[in-house]
Amino acid sequence: MSLQPRPSILSVEPYIGGESKLAGVNRILKLSSNEGPFGPPPKAIEAMTAAALDANRYPDGNATALRAAIGRKFGLDPARIVCGNGSDELLSMLILAYGGEGTELIMSAHGFMMYEITGRWAGCQVIKVPERNLTTDVDGMLAAVGPRTRLMFLANPNNPTGSILPQSEVVRLRAGLREDVLLVLDAAYAEYVTRPDYDAGQTLVDAGSNTVMCRTFSKVFGLGGVRLGWAYGPAGVVDVLNRVRSPFNVNATAQAAGIGALAEEGWIEKSVAHNVAERARVAAALTAAGFTVHPSEGNFLLVGFGDAARAKAADAALKARGAIVRMMGGYGLAECLRITIGLTDENTVVIEALTAFAHDG
Ligand code: PMP
Repeated sequence: MSLQPRPSILSVEPYIGGESKLAGVNRILKLSSNEGPFGPPPKAIEAMTAAALDANRYPDGNATALRAAIGRKFGLDPARIVCGNGSDELLSMLILAYGGEGTELIMSAHGFMMYEITGRWAGCQVIKVPERNLTTDVDGMLAAVGPRTRLMFLANPNNPTGSILPQSEVVRLRAGLREDVLLVLDAAYAEYVTRPDYDAGQTLVDAGSNTVMCRTFSKVFGLGGVRLGWAYGPAGVVDVLNRVRSPFNVNATAQAAGIGALAEEGWIEKSVAHNVAERARVAAALTAAGFTVHPSEGNFLLVGFGDAARAKAADAALKARGAIVRMMGGYGLAECLRITIGLTDENTVVIEALTAFAHDG
């Protein structure tokens, strides 16, 4: 008998990230992975350069200074923050710690793909709950809970749909859950949200023992390449994460970059102002061109082209101008493309390419 992994592993489809190269194109407009468009904050670059000089040393395994800086920035207790090699790592640790064979994990139908990938890896049964207008259906999520449910995921705002649940709905979701189900509030796009009622998760984490919030430096902070995320949870969940994480899970460069990024004055404000203005400009232009632009609270737009063939043709029209966006077939939304909001001139290329496509294509 040949070597075999656990059977559930064979049901996992590998995560395929956004493309970053196009044959024969010099300037790529990479709008496929919801990265911040401005590069890393200058103070993060400085801090990473300085950290490189000490790279013969292991990093601080507890990321003490970084957790203190996060705590100061967001008004949180550093003892209840755990840092990870991207928030992906934290999501995996939570699933492997609380899920596993014989348990169920609940997510919405077009929730972030990694919940399903890691859920299957862990051996959980993954239940995908249909949405309403591409928005999480709280009643459906609660109705899906069974005796074996241990984990529920809500990305708010959600990737790839861009949709958001009002805080009252998140509260209702949390209130309807048993104490032995962990609610993971994935707030990867939190900084971009401008709705006054929005709470990335702090309040609910503090109000109980079974809610955890995950955040990332990959989006608004422009540090996708260093892999840095963090979780804020109740003491019990934090204790579990600290037991299972590998000793030096966040490398020295990432720790330095995070501290530097948090020290960069005005970075979030500048990024959010740009995103709000440019997202509105792209949305208006693509709506005027006749496409379906789904409302988004993130740094990206999900755009519908009617059917899969037309979405594919639109993708080709964008690629012809050097713009790489994300095809959505893997999410069961083959009629859509997900387009990250980039620099102003990059967005203009998207508008021009798709307006021309609407006329000629
Ligand atoms: N959650 C959501 C909703 C995301 O969109 C992403 C990034 N694609 C992640 C988590 C993972 O982010 P990180 O780079 O911190 O692993």
